[in-house]
Amino acid sequence: MAVCSSSTCCDGNFDEKEKNVSTTSFLESCIPLPLPQETLDDIVPKGKDFAVLHGAGMRHKAKYDPDTLYFAPFLLLPSAFPRREFDRVVKLQPLINVLMHKIAHDHEFLKSALEKTIQVDDFTARLWDIYTKVREEGVTQWISLGMFRCDYFYSVTSQVAQQVEVNTVAASFAGLATRITILHRYVIGELRKPELLHHLPENDALAGLCGAMISAWEVYSSPKAVILFVVEDVTYNICDQRFHEYEIRRQRPDILVIRRNLTQISEQGRLTADKKLFIDGDEIAVVYFRAGYEPGQYHSEAEWDARLTIERSCAIKSPSIHYHLAGTKKVQQEIARPGVLKRFLTESEAEQVGQLFTGLYTLDRSAEGDKAVQMAMENPDHFVLKPQREGGGNNIYGSEIKEVLERLKDSQEREAYILMDRIRPPVQQNYLIRPHLPVTLAEVVSELGIFGAVLGSGKDIQFTNYSGHMLRTKLSSVNEALLHVHFYPTSTGWYKNCDLEVMAG
Ligand code: ADP
Ligand code: MG
Repeated sequence: MAVCSSSTCCDGNFDEKEKNVSTTSFLESCIPLPLPQETLDDIVPKGKDFAVLHGAGMRHKAKYDPDTLYFAPFLLLPSAFPRREFDRVVKLQPLINVLMHKIAHDHEFLKSALEKTIQVDDFTARLWDIYTKVREEGVTQWISLGMFRCDYFYSVTSQVAQQVEVNTVAASFAGLATRITILHRYVIGELRKPELLHHLPENDALAGLCGAMISAWEVYSSPKAVILFVVEDVTYNICDQRFHEYEIRRQRPDILVIRRNLTQISEQGRLTADKKLFIDGDEIAVVYFRAGYEPGQYHSEAEWDARLTIERSCAIKSPSIHYHLAGTKKVQQEIARPGVLKRFLTESEAEQVGQLFTGLYTLDRSAEGDKAVQMAMENPDHFVLKPQREGGGNNIYGSEIKEVLERLKDSQEREAYILMDRIRPPVQQNYLIRPHLPVTLAEVVSELGIFGAVLGSGKDIQFTNYSGHMLRTKLSSVNEALLHVHFYPTSTGWYKNCDLEVMAG
């Protein structure tokens, strides 16, 4: 076991012999654990109160009640993430935004990347239909707003941050991440370790993304027009969304936000002859999708009509349909092919971005795809099988990969999936704090999310930036982040671990 104490594993220098023993690498906690019981008895209620009073909350999924807010499950202490790798991905974010922007505007590339997928994946096919329709009719709004979140694990095998995916639609938690950052500052202060505070980096994710929406609103240039949030029928992650509204209001008291689900938009939305989008009496300048990324959010043709209406309009969309398509898992796999990044980036840029990728494999019905199927069936624990879905809980792991591929291997249906190397993050300990459940000292792993925003047309980019970060931490025994499945944000921040700079959250 590589223990991060006097060794330098947090900085990426694992023992040579440990390189392949991926699951056994540990990061030390920022404060020695376990904490004495009397410390826990004091700090846990303080942490819970801080969370509730600062809006780090959620609505309960099983016992939904619009009048009640629970604190969002969180980790008591900042979790560690190697600082060198944090710095690296922060620096690369503006470039990744540009990459996604260019992919989204490259029709030939999107077409060749997705042509097989859309034959077998109905949801991607519906998105593609909208994209095609709008292209044929003539695009009315050339400007798009990208608000992305790139997710990474630090890999103990390769000792660098490796990209899990780039979210181009409904990339959430910028609001809650900033709340959890201040919660951790408070907890560290209460634990009388103020000397550690300067290792928790500032996190302006919320201000950054809301600033980007405001810039888009200004480009639209109609003082009375509002920003539309496209939301789920029931929003559990309400605090995160509301913080976006409040931050827009804080920065620009003259800009209104309205919230509607796709069904309501189908009933209330209309386009004028010059393709302005109106919802009830409000002209829409910017559309921010917090829903619409999974099939279950389109109950009938009405919701698809609503999506098409939005796309046809001259409102600035985040994302517009081509950004949504650029964020599919299939596109992620296609850009990881050798040499493809150079279509969009300079040689040195392509090299830097390419280093973030882990192995991604097509499952097309070709010799290449057959090889990937065989590889996955032989060593399922080394891979993740991914359908074209967003929102968590859809991926397939371990022995189930074998079962699914056994069933699909001779059918075209396998082209709806991609295969990815499984990244092994280092394990660390932290206290998991959840409503109505005992405090648990758990073994967890952290996934870093880097937010970025880009505004521009196919011809030029007005800005591209790093907006902030988050760290989602899940039980190491669970395949997907609790956060994804149950919308549980757990952590964010920076930390100094042992003598090493690491990121925490
Ligand atoms: P989604 O779009 O549903 O969020 P992701 O690709 O982000 O799909 O996967 C969901 C979760 O599954 C991630 O947050 C991560 O916890 C886990 N995961 C995804 N890809 C990998 C991988 N290559 N290695 C290890 N875990 C992964
Ligand atoms: Mg994800």
